[in-house]
Amino acid sequence: MSETTNDKLLVEAIANGTVIDHIAPGQAMNILRLFNFLGKHNQITVGFNLRSGNMGNKDIIKIADVTFSPSETEQLAILAPDATVNSIKDFKVVDKYKLRLPTEIKGAFECPNSNCITHVEKGATPWFRIFKDDGHVMMRCHYCERVFSRKLVLKHNKLAN
Ligand SMILES: [Zn+2]
Repeated sequence: MSETTNDKLLVEAIANGTVIDHIAPGQAMNILRLFNFLGKHNQITVGFNLRSGNMGNKDIIKIADVTFSPSETEQLAILAPDATVNSIKDFKVVDKYKLRLPTEIKGAFECPNSNCITHVEKGATPWFRIFKDDGHVMMRCHYCERVFSRKLVLKHNKLAN
């Protein structure tokens, strides 16, 4: 295999789908887990610890034939608040936006408090308010009103390294 072919494989373009760029290093795997992308059959290219001019290193995910709904975009923003999402159609970027931390999130992440009513009542959808405290992202459970760091919530949901 020539070097040119190799390079081409690494940066293989997708015809239709989504490119998530500027993911903080180490988060790409957690994103794949959150959306169970490895359990699906979409073509996925992942780059870990790639060189990036403005933020040192980054992860990148290219996934074919997937677009993110508004609620999935919010979930994504919890894991990768500084990432950029590119929607690809016919090999062209048709939409590009920077993720922003949502003010609340419903349904995606379980409450780490084992006594929380969300673990007892089947109908109760987990619901967190999100705010920043001294630069750290914090999540307050709407039901038990406990405040957790984002890291702790992600760890509890097996989405942190
Ligand atoms: Zn709770």
